[in-house]
This record gives sequence, structure tokens and C-alpha cells, in this order.
Amino acid sequence: MKTKINFVRGLKGMGVVIMITYNKSRVIFDFGAPFEPLTQIYDGTVLVRNKKRVKDSLLLNQAPMIDYIYSKESLDDINLKPAEENPYETAIFISHCHKDHMSEIDKVDSSIPIYLHHLGLKLKQALETIEEEPYYRKYNGFEYNEKIMVGEIEVTPYFSDHACIGSASFLIKTKDCTIVYSGDIRFHALEAKRAWHATKQMSKNEIDLLIVDSTTTSSNEFVYSENEIDSLNLPSKEVLKDMITEQKIIDDIREQLKTHQGIAVFNLYHRDVRMLEYLIKIAKEYNREAVFEPHTAYIINELLNISTNVIFPNNNLKYDFYTEVRKNNKIISKDEVITNPNNYFVQNTYRNILELIDYDGINGVYFHLFGEPLTEEHVHYQIMKNVIDKLKWNFFSFINLYSFSHTYPNQLAYYIQKLNPKAVVAVHSTNPEGLNPVNAKHYLPKENVDYYLLNGQLIEKIEE
Ligand SMILES: [Zn+2]
Repeated sequence: MKTKINFVRGLKGMGVVIMITYNKSRVIFDFGAPFEPLTQIYDGTVLVRNKKRVKDSLLLNQAPMIDYIYSKESLDDINLKPAEENPYETAIFISHCHKDHMSEIDKVDSSIPIYLHHLGLKLKQALETIEEEPYYRKYNGFEYNEKIMVGEIEVTPYFSDHACIGSASFLIKTKDCTIVYSGDIRFHALEAKRAWHATKQMSKNEIDLLIVDSTTTSSNEFVYSENEIDSLNLPSKEVLKDMITEQKIIDDIREQLKTHQGIAVFNLYHRDVRMLEYLIKIAKEYNREAVFEPHTAYIINELLNISTNVIFPNNNLKYDFYTEVRKNNKIISKDEVITNPNNYFVQNTYRNILELIDYDGINGVYFHLFGEPLTEEHVHYQIMKNVIDKLKWNFFSFINLYSFSHTYPNQLAYYIQKLNPKAVVAVHSTNPEGLNPVNAKHYLPKENVDYYLLNGQLIEKIEE
């Protein structure tokens, strides 16, 4: 028994970190902090201490406690073995650029390679330039379907259609086991077909263990119902009440813009590059121009390779990248939008919400598209709502992260059935017991414990 698995975290919620070891080779999948929107320490208010950030992060349960990952100097007095003494050939793979999967990667010693899909890497670099992500080290890019060897472990990334550009699932092979880690998955979005195709490719292997995104089991708001689904290319006609598909969001926005007179505003999470692309397209269909804040305009320039319209908010913040943005995009003034509100579809992020006050007296519609604040429980959500109410605008909120970004129970069951693994472990769910795998043994392992994997059996390693 040589293949060892440790579910470092993520067996009871977000912030998945999985470590697989074979002899002196070690691979780690995802490296984010737990997602706690209401109690997150680094919410933009508390400043990161540059020199102590690794120690702070470990003590606050943000970065995972793993030996041989962090440099001796950065560990300070934390009781972990330093990267300088690492006996393993090690690599870290990131399934996508959402914080619960990658927020801690900048703390890893630069001797350990970290891989992201090349588009995810491009996004990461753009986020560093606009100062949304810290820059401390370099990362490597991977391509879908191209194997990477880490010592004796073989890792092949596959396409996944999560709400972030460059999302991946991984097929992992050692000499005695084959494992799939799904990353975050959904099959109700615009590239569902491509995602099912990737699933089919992975299913050609005999899979011992599937570690699967089971977010959908966290929520009892998902109730099966008969519904119209033909257009979505799903294997099952059973869908859920309150489902939010990308197509539905796009159709809902279209429906509003068709007849709306006045200003139209949206607030989105700009790591969802496809949503950026669609908003530009939808605006055009209704004779509007999409206008972006400079941070998002930079991402559009870099990731979509197009120039766009930019509106600069009225504050004292200055960034080096503003020069690039000014050069590469058309600058739209606030006065122009106020004079011709019917011509524009304008981005507004929460921190710039006061910009909306200038549109007082203009008929407006506001689309909250998974931008910050992320949950209705967050105090910022009510503040945002109050401003929109004062303006007497129509407010449309798409906020259910579970149903938008993650697969539904019926699709999840189908996915497991397709991959046909011997064993299954649920991750990314607050209710892993709720997973109902088809013909596979469902394990409920403990976090931070070493397990051997053999013939689809997880056996807890007893310390000698
Ligand atoms: Zn996630």
C-alpha cells in the first residue's frame, strides 16, 4: 500500500485541500482558506502584514497546516517542517481562481511549483496587476488533457465548466491507484456539453476513488420538480426549483433591457470572464454600450483581448495600470451617461456604490449578478439595497451561489454514475452525508488523517 491520501480540509465545507502521496512524490490539490463571508478576517478592512503573513494566516486557520510547504523564515515559531527540508518531489494544482481554492498559494515557498490552467494563470496575473491578488511568486500554466509528472505521480487536468475561467478537474494516477478530483463542477451552464465530454474522457479509466464537489447536498432548498430543460442539453429532465442557469440570467437581463428606458446597471464578480463577454453582447443587442470600471476593463483587455468602454470613479485612488486602461479603451464620462442613459449598461461594484447617486432622478434598473456582497446576510447587502431603494430603481438579484456555480443533485448522481468509481468522498459540502452515490462505496473520512487507498478501499493509517 503506497498511495496515501490526506483530506487536509474541505470535508465539511469550502476551502478544499487534498494531499496525495506516493513514495517520495506528493501532489496537493487546491490551496484556499475556508469560505466564511460573514467572519472573514481579510475582508479588505484588516491589512495583511507582509513579513508575518504566513504565520498570521496559519494561526488564523487560513493557510493549511502542512509540513515542507512554507519557508523556515516565514514559519517563524510555527511548529511545521520547513520547505528547505522537503524530502518529497511536490507540486500544487489549483482547480480554479476562486479564493476558497487558491487564496493561500502566494504563501507557498517558491521551490514548490504551483500549476493553474493557462487562462486561470492569465487571470491571476491580471488580478495581481489590478492589486486584487498579492504578488509574491511565480506560477506555472497547464493545458487540459496534457499530463504532468510529479515524481511518480501523473496528473491530467480536464475541462470543467465552473463560473471561473480556466476551471479544471484532475485525473491522478499512481502505480496502484487512479483518483479523480472533480474541482468545482456544474452541468447547467453554457458549456455543459464540453463538460460532459471531459467527464466521458475521464470515465475511460478505471477509477478507484472520486473526490467530488457535493455542494448541492448542503442545501435543502433544492427540491426536484418537473421543468422545462430541453434547451439545456442535460441528461435528465428532472431539474430543481429556483435553479439559476447562465442562460436564465442572460434571458432575464434581455427581458428587462428590451423595454427599459433609463440607466441600466450591473454588479458582477469579474473573475467570471464569460459573464463579462455576455454582458457586452447583450448590451449591444439593445443598442447600449457596456461600460466598465477600470479594474474590470483591464481584465477584459487581458482575457478577452478586446478594447472596451471605461468609466473612472470619482475618488483619489490611483493605480499604475490606469495608464494602460486609458490607452487601450474608450473613456466615457459620467456626464455622457447622465445625458444619454439609454445608451449605456454600466458596471458598479459595491465599493463605488456612491457613484450611483449621480443618477438620482433617472429611471434605473440594477442587476446584482454574484458581485460583492456575496450573501444577503452580509450587512453590505442591506446598505446596497438601501441605496437602490432611495433611487427607486428596479432591483434584480441573482445571488444563490449554490445553484448557480455548482451541479444539481440529479446531475451529480449522473456524473458519479458516468465515472463509475469504486469509492466516493464528498467535499465542498456542509452535509457530506447527503451525497447518494450510485454503485460506489461512500466514505466519510476525517480531516487531517492519512488514509491508504487500495482497490477502492480507504484504510486509515495507524501510526506505528
Ligand atoms: Zn469552491
